[in-house]
Amino acid sequence: MPGYLGNRLDGVVHHLAVMTSDCKIVEIKKLDKVYFVPDTIEQAITEKFTQCKNCIKN
Ligand SMILES: [Zn+2]
Repeated sequence: MPGYLGNRLDGVVHHLAVMTSDCKIVEIKKLDKVYFVPDTIEQAITEKFTQCKNCIKN
């Protein structure tokens, strides 16, 4: 199971293990889902995604 999921529509990346209902993961359409290789937050940031305020703490 992947650790991180990006939303292509709003450019936000979520941490699936600690996601909350505020993340609205279920509303992300299949075509808008982005997975990362490698599956790390660093890779998501490299691909210009913004960290979700609900599930990713700095
Ligand atoms: Zn989130």
